[in-house]
Amino acid sequence: MDLTTPVSGITQIPIPVPLPVHYTNCYVVEAGDSKIIVDAGMDTPDARLAWQSAIQSLDLHHSPIQYIFVTHLHPDHIGLAQWLSERVEAPVAMMDQEAEFSLRYIGHESSPEELAVMRDFYQQHGVPTETVEHWTVLDKIFREAIVLPKEFIRMTDGQQTLWDNQAFVFIEQGGHTPHQGLLYLPDRKVLFTGDQVLGRITPNVSLWPTGDPNPLANYLNSLRKLQSLNDSIGLPAHEAIVPSVHQRLTELIIHHQHRNDKLLGFLEVQGPLSAFALTRLLFTRPLDDYQLRFAIGETLAHLELLRSQNLVLTQPQRELVVYVRTPK
Ligand SMILES: [Zn+2]
Repeated sequence: MDLTTPVSGITQIPIPVPLPVHYTNCYVVEAGDSKIIVDAGMDTPDARLAWQSAIQSLDLHHSPIQYIFVTHLHPDHIGLAQWLSERVEAPVAMMDQEAEFSLRYIGHESSPEELAVMRDFYQQHGVPTETVEHWTVLDKIFREAIVLPKEFIRMTDGQQTLWDNQAFVFIEQGGHTPHQGLLYLPDRKVLFTGDQVLGRITPNVSLWPTGDPNPLANYLNSLRKLQSLNDSIGLPAHEAIVPSVHQRLTELIIHHQHRNDKLLGFLEVQGPLSAFALTRLLFTRPLDDYQLRFAIGETLAHLELLRSQNLVLTQPQRELVVYVRTPK
């Protein structure tokens, strides 16, 4: 177990996950006489073993822990929250609306109405029927894999607590999930960035059949909100620490602008095209069904942002919806 101290008073615990990122970085933060844990990781046997060893090394059994703050509802963050909460005898905290959203969508099967909405949504965007059917199976696995915490301490955007005269501020962010929560320690110039700001990769920002209708606008607005804070070191939930959050925010905003420009270019030369056809142009590497769902979600997130800016239009074409460049 490779425990590190990226900033004094903060321990990083790499919890293994069976995903390409390999680890979820969880953190133990000194908060006055007590501690806060940030994120719990995915519920796998290896992850439980890693936590058991960290609990021993950091003597978490014998330290008062205020809460386990879960940044967002994805299984590699919330999956072990209930289990960990029982081990360290601390409640689970989450942004109020993220907790609401997780109670609505996780831990139970999709209703027949939800499945019908999902099938219609992807078929009208040109996804083959077999692929959509496979996604409904993956969806069921995702929803049922998580045991949600029994209750949450609910945090709100801008909520602030002082420990040892140091501020702990919760900041809400959209785009990756509807209401992801980041923890900001302005006095220590530290931002726990969850999955919102990662050092090398870009977090998935997808349009889903239900939920935020313009997630990329929301994501970019959320990043601008982070730009208004003083620069800090970013402690992300995956991969290496981010030396300057401001610099990474600029890179992320430029990255999405490039993707927008690419899509506009495809439409100018080859349009009208369905979102599925555009996904195939935008993502040239081979994708399995699981990755394909995130890929079309991202493509749609870009297209809906461009549509809200009047740069593209949708048109019906037989049973499909196709996108075209808005005439100049
Ligand atoms: Zn994650």
